[in-house]
Amino acid sequence: MIGRWSAASIRARLTGWYALVLMAMLLVYATATYVAVRHEFLEQLDEQLHGEFETLEGRLARMPDGRITWGDEGRQDPDHEPERVFELWSPAGEQLQRSGADVSLPPTVLATASSSYRYETVRSNGERWRSLTGSVTVDGQSVVLRAARSEERVLGQLREVLVVLVFGLPLIVMLAGVGGYVLARRALQPIDHLASEAHRITAEQLHQRLSVPNQHDEIGRLAAVINSTLARLEGSFDQLRRFTADASHELRTPLAVVRGIGEAAVAKRRTALEYEEAIGSMLEEVDRMSNLVDTLLRLSRGDARTIKPTHQLTDLGELAKEAASSLGILAEDRHQTIDVSVNGGVVVSVDRLILREALTNILDNAIKYSPNASAIQIRVERVGDRAVIAVTDQGPGVALEHREVIFDRFFRVDQSRTRNGGGAGLGLAIAKWAVQLHGGELTAQDGSRGGSEFRIVLPTGSISPITDEHLSHADPRGGTS
Ligand code: ADP
Repeated sequence: MIGRWSAASIRARLTGWYALVLMAMLLVYATATYVAVRHEFLEQLDEQLHGEFETLEGRLARMPDGRITWGDEGRQDPDHEPERVFELWSPAGEQLQRSGADVSLPPTVLATASSSYRYETVRSNGERWRSLTGSVTVDGQSVVLRAARSEERVLGQLREVLVVLVFGLPLIVMLAGVGGYVLARRALQPIDHLASEAHRITAEQLHQRLSVPNQHDEIGRLAAVINSTLARLEGSFDQLRRFTADASHELRTPLAVVRGIGEAAVAKRRTALEYEEAIGSMLEEVDRMSNLVDTLLRLSRGDARTIKPTHQLTDLGELAKEAASSLGILAEDRHQTIDVSVNGGVVVSVDRLILREALTNILDNAIKYSPNASAIQIRVERVGDRAVIAVTDQGPGVALEHREVIFDRFFRVDQSRTRNGGGAGLGLAIAKWAVQLHGGELTAQDGSRGGSEFRIVLPTGSISPITDEHLSHADPRGGTS
């Protein structure tokens, strides 16, 4: 039953609940109404009875022959008074006078001769009668007076009310249910429309969007959310396609080189030295490929969030000096100088290896892209509650329109650059991921001495706050979020 209920459409369930709740409310309302009306009708009957009792009481008088009577013989006709009965009794239980309907009510018994009144419902011939009995004293003689009225008319009226309530209630619930169903269907129709539109959108048609009839209502907001999800999906798919294409392209080139060297080597007989050279060149290409594959592997682990940083308190000044000295040989080859200036001790809890890799990639670029005999500067300082590592060079700088995209995977400003002149365009993507993993920011801007300045800005909390937001910013597909 529950299974079938939950399998029903929302509009059917809505209508069902609506009808059920309405039915329960109407039932309570109808019962309360019936009880109140019944009480009111019976009370009115008692009031009428009381009025008639008093009228009759006022007419009681002693006749010259000593009898006590209300003196109206006309009332003796039962046809005129089919619903009423008036009786006069002596305290001893002898009926003195009677008028009204031809029914025999049970003899009245009043325990005391005091002027007490008693309402009661009695039965006669299967009919219910309401009677008011009271002791009355006329000229010092006490008698018992009884006025009675049939309840049948009131009960008949009550039955009519009950019939209206009992038959009207399901009718109202049925009409309301139909109305509710139509309303629910109209209200939910746009959802069906959305569903059929969304159904048509496949991975190949991610550029399509759902129509948003009214962006201010719930369904409009739902459509807008689905549209923005589609937009994000489309972006991710695009990046994935680009990434796959770029990665294949990067691997194809060294493979082609290996193949070319191999083919040239076996084309004719060579000396042992020539073979050695050919094998050496091939191994170089293989190295290049394994580096690329290693880097891609690491990035994809970063994307899958399987790399867990190991935090330790690290002196960023020391870290900068280490990076500078490990790359010093490259700078020396180009007669460049690397100057590290540390403004006070800046100690931050970070994963030393991961952050060092970011710094190495940035420094490597500074060496690679700066002219011979230029100066590179690393500045480590604390700015407010942030730690900053800035690498400034005297290279060509990064044009404004490239300052975001240089962090994309496989992006190179000069796409035609020879393979020996630079890497695959993954260095900054890795650096950005590493910095964001620590809750920090990596940006490129103009350097003070003409070149560029790459700034790593890190929070200095004892444990770096790494939130999902930061991780998702380190977009696996190299987005420049
Ligand atoms: P690559 O392996 O090509 O160096 P990166 O991701 O490290 O890839 O850098 C991306 C691009 O950003 C580089 O191709 C280069 O054009 C530009 N770039 C990086 N660092 C610098 C810099 N210090 N000065 C000028 N351009 C830079």
